[in-house]
Amino acid sequence: MRGNVIIIGGGFGGLSAGALLSKSGIPVTLFESDTVLGGRAKCIEKEGYIVDLGLHANRFGDDGPAARVLKMVGQAITFAHKKDRTSYVYQDGKLIKRPNAIEDFLQTELVPEESRQALLQTVFAMVAEDPADWYEKALLQFVEQHTQDEHVKRFFRLLGFTIIAPDIETASAGEVISFIKNAQMAKEPLAEPVGGAKQIIDKLESVIRSTGGEIKTGTRVERIELQDGKAIGVTAGGRLYTASAIVFTPPIQHLFQFIKKDYFSPDFVSYAENLEPTSGVSIDFGLRKPVADMEGNIICLDPVVLGSFPSNYDSTLAPAGKQLSTWLMVVPYAEAKKGPTLKNALDSLRDFIRNLYPTFFDNVEWERPLAYLILDGVHLKVGQTRKDRHSIQSPHVRNLFFVGDTAQGDGCSGDIAFDSATKAAPMIQDYLATARNQL
Ligand SMILES: Cc1cc2nc3c(=O)[nH]c(=O)nc-3n(C[C@H](O)[C@H](O)[C@H](O)COP(=O)(O)OP(=O)(O)OC[C@H]3O[C@@H](n4cnc5c(N)ncnc54)[C@H](O)[C@@H]3O)c2cc1C
Repeated sequence: MRGNVIIIGGGFGGLSAGALLSKSGIPVTLFESDTVLGGRAKCIEKEGYIVDLGLHANRFGDDGPAARVLKMVGQAITFAHKKDRTSYVYQDGKLIKRPNAIEDFLQTELVPEESRQALLQTVFAMVAEDPADWYEKALLQFVEQHTQDEHVKRFFRLLGFTIIAPDIETASAGEVISFIKNAQMAKEPLAEPVGGAKQIIDKLESVIRSTGGEIKTGTRVERIELQDGKAIGVTAGGRLYTASAIVFTPPIQHLFQFIKKDYFSPDFVSYAENLEPTSGVSIDFGLRKPVADMEGNIICLDPVVLGSFPSNYDSTLAPAGKQLSTWLMVVPYAEAKKGPTLKNALDSLRDFIRNLYPTFFDNVEWERPLAYLILDGVHLKVGQTRKDRHSIQSPHVRNLFFVGDTAQGDGCSGDIAFDSATKAAPMIQDYLATARNQL
């Protein structure tokens, strides 16, 4: 009998791990406390709109980590291809085109003409670097090695924002370099699934179910149970479910709600409790008539805002003649921890939108404001990069595996969840095979 696996959590990470394991013939049971799958990427249907949790950008399209997981389980993502990928940066009171390709850097109005050569040289220098040499150095350090031009430094905050780390004083240069290199190689740097993240979630769910895996939604895991230093299963709804291995996918900051700290080293406990996430607020809007026709995004660095009108490139997301718009404001975690800051950020975000589109709020049918202390599980600053984070297989409890956007996967945000699942699946298979041979 092959060992069975319990997966805690039905977000990108848990569903990916579940689909990969189930497809390879390993019996899985996935527990999700919510009644709906998707976790921080869950989607709702509301008055004819399909609404992701805020804007859910899918990086590198068919070459990205989400598409890779789906390919591994025999599926493909159907993308909504944009006709016009122009995105805009709101800077100095106006919307300025964001350069799409390196050639565009020599014309970009985001820096004055006299700074463009320095910008181009610094970007060229960046793509020639090996990310591994730069993970533990800040983006600002990289830029200052090439130029002291303040306009170029400001531009590099935009590159930091690609990994949700516009604070170039602390953002890891290696993580940004890795992102830029992947974006250069991808046919499409950003390509969204038709119907939003739900397409990915539904496909992963169907793979698990069709290969004999079990999904228990609305079932909260209360504890991970251990015996002689090994996880033996979980307690959920007052009942013990046993397993040969357990995959934990909520952010690692929540681990000790499930398992006693005593099983781990003090260094690991301190690391897991103090790993800094990104924080922020989002507002999704149903608009009774279109307010803007752009298919790209709007980015602002001061305040840090990302906006989009997703129904412009994917008409399935809003009823005919109406428009879906979604906005995100990133708030430093240290600030967000003080509760009122997040509420104030929602007001600032509304003011930002009103300033940009004075008639926007005349057209709002409904809005959904949300605040998150954990937006991305990890802020990709120096000391928290892929090489610094906890290993996928716990060194303390050998049959406990960590998957999700705080684990040791590549990329940023949801990409880490997908990538860590692809790394975890063979490790779990090896562990189960070895454990079986030892019997
Ligand atoms: C507003 C917003 C916008 C974002 N935008 C982007 C973006 O543009 N691009 C991008 O790549 N990423 C984005 N992200 C981040 C992305 O959503 C996450 O990185 C990703 O969804 C994390 O997946 P995960 O599986 O690691 O964790 P989660 O999605 O958090 O999954 C963990 C799951 O565990 C479940 N769980 C927790 N406790 C229990 C329990 N006791 N028992 C059972 N189940 C439990 C949770 O309900 C959850 O479903 C955004 C996030 C937010 C909030």
